[in-house]
Amino acid sequence: MSALNLYHDPDCIFCKIIAKKIPSRVVYEDEEIFAFHDINPWAPVHFLLIPKMHLSSMAQVGTEHGALLGRMMALVPKLALEQGCNPYPEGGYRLVSNTGREGGQEVQHLHFHVMGGPRPWLRG
Ligand code: 5GP
Ligand code: ZN
Repeated sequence: MSALNLYHDPDCIFCKIIAKKIPSRVVYEDEEIFAFHDINPWAPVHFLLIPKMHLSSMAQVGTEHGALLGRMMALVPKLALEQGCNPYPEGGYRLVSNTGREGGQEVQHLHFHVMGGPRPWLRG
């Protein structure tokens, strides 16, 4: 949408994935939000949900991002089921956003891991 002025970091791997300069297995895309399968899955279902605008992490999120994050969170139940997570409560999924070095964050573009499917998982 041309009205959206989305900031992209040219050195960011997830910005390159959004721009399709790096291929990924796309789960979902709209004007503001992108989701794709993790290249190194921990669980039978493991995808990443990211804003198209470059925010480095949850640490950069403020009240001005509330609508965007609300939309992202509201997509999780739908996408999780579509991707093969089993229904709550027997199924479900794990929703994680690693933040900063001590939070275990490796890619500095805000992302939510959605992991689910039958146990055991590789990790987590
Ligand atoms: P973090 O540790 O930052 O929370 O998670 C980053 C995630 O991004 C990791 O699970 C990693 O496997 C995934 N990842 C890193 N590079 C790529 C890539 O080029 N493509 C995809 N699909 N996932 C990636
Ligand atoms: Zn980025």
